[in-house]
Formats: sequence, structure tokens, C-alpha cells
Amino acid sequence: MASVGAVTRQIAALEISAKQNGATKNSRPLHQKTGSQSNVSKLLTKFAAPHPFPDPKPKASVRTVPPRPANPAHSTTKQPAPAPQKPPPAKPAADRELDIGKYDGGFEIENEKRGEAVDGEAARELALDSSVSRTRPTREWHLTDFDIGRPLGKGKFGRVYMVRTKVEPNYILALKCLYKSEIVQSRVEKQIRREIEIQQNLRHPNVLRLYGYFHDEKRIFLMLEFAGKGELYKQLTKYGCFSERRSAIYVDQMADALSYLHSKHVIHRDIKPENLLLGINGELKIGDFGWSVHAPGNRRTTLCGTLDYLPPEMVEGRDHNEKVDYWALGVLTYEFIVGSPPFEEMSGYNATYKRIAKVDLRIPSKVSADARDLITNLLQYDPERRLPLVEVRRHPWVVRYRPKTPSPQAGKAQ
Ligand code: AMP
Repeated sequence: MASVGAVTRQIAALEISAKQNGATKNSRPLHQKTGSQSNVSKLLTKFAAPHPFPDPKPKASVRTVPPRPANPAHSTTKQPAPAPQKPPPAKPAADRELDIGKYDGGFEIENEKRGEAVDGEAARELALDSSVSRTRPTREWHLTDFDIGRPLGKGKFGRVYMVRTKVEPNYILALKCLYKSEIVQSRVEKQIRREIEIQQNLRHPNVLRLYGYFHDEKRIFLMLEFAGKGELYKQLTKYGCFSERRSAIYVDQMADALSYLHSKHVIHRDIKPENLLLGINGELKIGDFGWSVHAPGNRRTTLCGTLDYLPPEMVEGRDHNEKVDYWALGVLTYEFIVGSPPFEEMSGYNATYKRIAKVDLRIPSKVSADARDLITNLLQYDPERRLPLVEVRRHPWVVRYRPKTPSPQAGKAQ
């Protein structure tokens, strides 16, 4: 049986060969963008890479993806079930053999009782379908295009499942469902739209890929990179804290990913362990660009979210820039090594606010001098004095623990 790692590498190879073959050409006509789809896409257009799911050349005897009704992005009615497909020809690719686990019917069971159709402006805002992007048109997708496997988790707006595309080359993905009416109730439809559009244009080994998205009457589905080792936060809870070696490796990957995001003018603003996933080789993946407020049960899920990672300028309501992420990286480094964030105060928000505003930093003696130096240099009140990310990656503590042979996915953006 193939390992997930092998499959991941295979997917990467396929993407590369698609790029090299100029396979970005789509057999479908380019769609017009809808009005509300424009700004962020425009901003990020120059960073867009070829879409990862070029239409494979239809083979004479083989059905690929069933055709969809025209312009589904603007439709809020249920789409008809596609005609039955002929099974694809036998294929040696290992990913077909990978066990994606048993589906519990959760998408359908949940859909019976959860959510409702939305209409008007909200419906237009949430008619999200990556196949209509003018810059990166892709095939139209539907839930029936996937074999669904085991549940991976539940988010605030819906469930996440491990899936495999029925169409070759049978990509393994995480499919995340978001209920439109709940998004509207939380009044985050614009934010979600914007963040989906941003994430789809990002390519970095430590940033979770969003390959595409589609919608039906009640739901939006995100086709996400499968993070094989799950949530980093679970690991942190399990072990209490991480060794300095492990912490330094994560900090190195975070600094690289944040540099990349900032170079694309994307400020994350919400770096914390709960928003980080782990790839199949244990590499860190920034996995949440804000649409997924975590489900009850996780910590720091109050209405206001956590304060622990907020920098002084945000606590004090001043203007902020990308240096908020430098601060958060300092907090993250501390939490990895110590096991709790540096300004946490059980007595309440006010106490935490005060400690952040004063930079009341107390570093336990077990923390090495080098790690202490890095944390102190990131947790500076003045954003301009915070250690630049390029310096974080050159810091002796980070350099000391950097693996000598970089792993296949470590390094620069693909
Ligand atoms: P979220 O809605 O992002 O909070 O997702 C709910 C849960 O599903 C998370 O806590 C993860 O355990 C899991 N999950 C979400 N996205 C992925 C992914 N891309 N790969 C693996 N597991 C995921």
C-alpha cells in the first residue's frame, strides 16, 4: 500500500508536469468574474500559478468529470445528479490504493437538519465556485465527484472529511463544508469570501493549499490540502510543550511562511497553535485564514477569541501592519517551549491586556539563552524594533536546530 507521503509527492509531480506542459489551458470557456469576486483576486493575480486540476485530456472511452449545468455559481437551486460514470480504466497509481477510511454519511445526515438556503445579496456573495475565476478557471466540482472517507473533524460551520477525487489522478484532499446560513448569521460572508480568494492564490510548503471550492444551495465546500498529521494544537496538548529542537524547527518554518505571506501583502493576524496543522512529514502548515472559527471544546473559543496573541498596538487600538505577525511568532515560540502563552492571565481579559501593553514578559529559567534572546527580540513593544523574519531565520537558535538535509517540502515556495 502506498504511503500518504508518496501520494503527496505524486500530486506535486503531477502539478509540476501540468505546469511544464502548459496544461493551464482549459477546455471550458473562461467565465466572467462576478462583481464581488474582483478585488483580492485582482491584487493576487500576479501571484497566481496554474491551477492544480487541469482537465485531463478526455480519453476516447473514458468519462472524466460529468458536465454541470451552465453558470452554477449564480444558481441557488440544487443541481441535478450527474449521469452515472463508467469506471475509469485500471490505473497503477498508488493513491487509489490508499485507504481513506470509512464514510459515516455525515455530510448527508447533517444536511437534512442543518442550515437553510440563503437569498439576495448574501446568496450572491456566497456563490463561491473556483471554476468561474477568470485568472485560474478550473473544472466545476460537485460532491458526487469525490469518494468520501473518514471524518477529520468538525469546525464551527461544518464538517471536514478525507476524500479522493473519482477522476484521475485520484487526488487525496480534505473536503471542508461550510453552511451558508450560519456564515450569514455570524455576519462573516465578506470575510470568508475574501479569505477563500486569498488562500487559493497562495503557494508555499508551510501554507495549507486551497485547491478549489464549489457550492450548492446551502453549503460551500473547500478542497483543501490534506494535513496528514492533523492539528498541531493536539500535539501541544498531548506533550504539554515541545523540545527546543522541535520548537526551533517550527519557528523556522513559520518565519519562512510568514515572509512569503508578507511578500504577497497578506498579513495573517491570527497566528496561534489552533490555526496550525501538520503535513504528512510533520511539517507545519498555516491552515486557517479566518473562516474557520473553531468548534466549542477547543480552548479560546469565546466570542472575542483569544487575546493571548494580540500585540500592544492592537490591544491599544492603534494602527497595525505585518509586524503583528512578528509579535505572534514571539508568543508562539514562547508557548511551544513553555507550554502556555506569555501574557496569559486566568483572572480575565483586562489583566491580559495590561500585561501585553506593558510587555510584562517573564521567561522561565529552563528556557535557553538563545531562545530567550529570540523571544525577547520578537516581543518588542515598538513594532519597528521587532526582529525581522529574515533575521529570525538566521538566528543562532534557529540555525542550530535546522536539519542538515532539508526535507523535500522544506524550502522556498513551489
Ligand atoms: P476547522 O473547521 O478548520 O476547525 O476544521 C475542523 C477540524 O478538521 C480541525 O480541527 C482538524 O482536525 C480537521 N481538519 C481541518 N482541515 C484539515 C485538513 N486540511 N487536513 C486534515 N485535517 C483537517
